Amino acid sequence: PPVQSDFPGEIHPTPGGGIVISSFDALINWARSNSLWPLTFATSCCGIEMMSTASSKYDFSRFGFEVARATPRQADVIIIAGTIVNKMGPVLKRLYDQMADPKYVVAMGACAISGGPFFYNTYSVVKGADHIIPVDVYIPGCPPRPEALLHALITLQGKIKSGLTREQIRNESKEG
Ligand code: SF4
Repeated sequence: PPVQSDFPGEIHPTPGGGIVISSFDALINWARSNSLWPLTFATSCCGIEMMSTASSKYDFSRFGFEVARATPRQADVIIIAGTIVNKMGPVLKRLYDQMADPKYVVAMGACAISGGPFFYNTYSVVKGADHIIPVDVYIPGCPPRPEALLHALITLQGKIKSGLTREQIRNESKEG
């Protein structure tokens, strides 16, 4: 059940011992933040670290991310883990368009952020996922460790829970 610390200022005890939630939005944000369903988009080596994050050692199901989906229609956060080549660009855009709103985008690793080691002199690689779709969270590294992916998802959870709009989340990410 919801606990008072999850809703600072939002839950007020009643004389009978029950609770009253003063804001329905807070409840929605709390539920949404704890049920992010990832769409896997592993195209290369970063994908191995993403899979590791789902394995028993790191176990991202502890935080509510375990329902990884293979279809965009059942997902609300896409984790782009790996290099995006030009031919893959339209596919990424179509997957994104098919995801349910509100949706979020995580760019995991240097390739997804900027093309990474393929930034220079590689004609076939997209120089960052945000050339194709809006990115909300950037995770630096080549590859980032599972702890970094967990940190990013938990941070995203916190921002959703606090009621930030997607645009506000994106602006905060860009400010660093
Ligand atoms: Fe591979 Fe590094 Fe690119 Fe990740 S950032 S996909 S580890 S080359």
